[in-house]
Amino acid sequence: MTTPPRVRVRYAPSPTGDPHVGNVRQAIWSWLFARHSGGDFLIRLEDTDQTRKVPGSLERIYGSLRWLGIDWDEGPDIGGPYAPYVQSERLPRYRVAADQLLADGHAYLCFCSSERLAEMRKAQQAAGESPGYDGLCRTLSVAEATTRAAAGEAHVVRFKMRDDGTTTLVDLLRGEITVENRHFDDFVILKSDQFPTYHLAHVVDDYEMQISHVTRGDEWLPSAPRHARIWDALGYARPTFVHFPVILGPDGGKLSKRHGAKSVLEYADEGYVAGAVFNFLAILGWSFDDKTELFTRARLTEIFDLADISVNPAAFDTQKLEWMNGVYLRDMPEPELTALFAERLDRDLPTDVARPLDRALIAAFTPHIRERVKLLSEVAGLVDFFFAASVVTPGADEFLSAKRWRDDAAGAAGSLRAIADTIEALADWSTAAIEAAMRGTAEAIDEKAGDVFTLCRLAVTGKRIAPPLFETIEIVGRETTVSRLRAAASALAPTV
Ligand code: GLU
Repeated sequence: MTTPPRVRVRYAPSPTGDPHVGNVRQAIWSWLFARHSGGDFLIRLEDTDQTRKVPGSLERIYGSLRWLGIDWDEGPDIGGPYAPYVQSERLPRYRVAADQLLADGHAYLCFCSSERLAEMRKAQQAAGESPGYDGLCRTLSVAEATTRAAAGEAHVVRFKMRDDGTTTLVDLLRGEITVENRHFDDFVILKSDQFPTYHLAHVVDDYEMQISHVTRGDEWLPSAPRHARIWDALGYARPTFVHFPVILGPDGGKLSKRHGAKSVLEYADEGYVAGAVFNFLAILGWSFDDKTELFTRARLTEIFDLADISVNPAAFDTQKLEWMNGVYLRDMPEPELTALFAERLDRDLPTDVARPLDRALIAAFTPHIRERVKLLSEVAGLVDFFFAASVVTPGADEFLSAKRWRDDAAGAAGSLRAIADTIEALADWSTAAIEAAMRGTAEAIDEKAGDVFTLCRLAVTGKRIAPPLFETIEIVGRETTVSRLRAAASALAPTV
């Protein structure tokens, strides 16, 4: 009996911008599989297409993974036994592999100019044929090719793919796939600038880095037979291929930016919490029992299996992500939530609010707003009045919009003053005492409690919708509450 190889999976992004959700879901699934299997998860930077490089990408890739709580065992930043983990630093290895393929007759030098290739493509199009290299240079003798290359003639290396046979490979999710080689052309594995194409580079790296499962998006499935042939031609034992389905938009079409094809860091900015995004993406196209949706990272690590991924693309559902975010916020232990709120408020509150922010204050209001928050980005708008030295009082229109006060600014001001007097004189400063006293005052002045409380809420918080009133007043404090109530009263009906 042979023991299966140690599970080693890689996340192999290209530095072409911020990783979006589809890309990051690949990282999540690969990471979960590695952790589930007690194997290794590594990062390899695929930067052979230097023209598409976007500065800062790598940092954003790290940032996205770190935010999600994904760690790696080897990578460009931390090295490892198969370093370097950046393809542009591994060029000699691809050259060696290409030379081996040339020597063994699996590849040949091609001198066709870009003009010739363009003409060929045009002719193929006109004839209704599928585009692809016509194999002209395959007929060159090795001696002639070697002489021309030695004389400095520009050339690429092509892999001999097209023939009358078939290629069979196994994809973990799809089973056996057989294709006819005549549908492929002899593709480029080494470009004229000595950079490899993805086809060659990733095979060499996956082999050298002892990757057990090649996990990647299914946009690579059509090319997988090419890769299988390179693995064979180099005499390497093939890994397990796993092609992940794409994520679709809510309407079943391509996932657009508006519907979620954003970078993970944008979700962080918009106020999603990492646990929710991780959970949401992990189960987008993977299912444990067809009904459970909420999983901790630890639980996922325990139960995740690549084989349970559906080959049918799942649709991105923003509402579900929002719902899940709310659930995560509601279920989070309070100290953790307070820390998240504090971090977010530090970013979002206006600069004239003194820093560092009062942590005890944040801890005090956290339990009263947690049920109302779906996104962290909503927090500042909900609680800014706790921090403002003087709250921005809404205009009289706002105060007098309720039916009771519509034609009675003096009555509204009088009610606010009555409550201010009560609060000022209150002996016991607790939620219950504040509530009892305010209700008592409303009754004493013969007003409906609801009508009076609406005025108080506007005066103290500046908002129609705010955290619960009595708790809010308790936290805002006696002095500030009284001065805000009086300020609002004066604005409505100045005393003479
Ligand atoms: N660099 C490739 C990409 O970003 C990775 C494909 C793979 O994982 O092999 O699409």
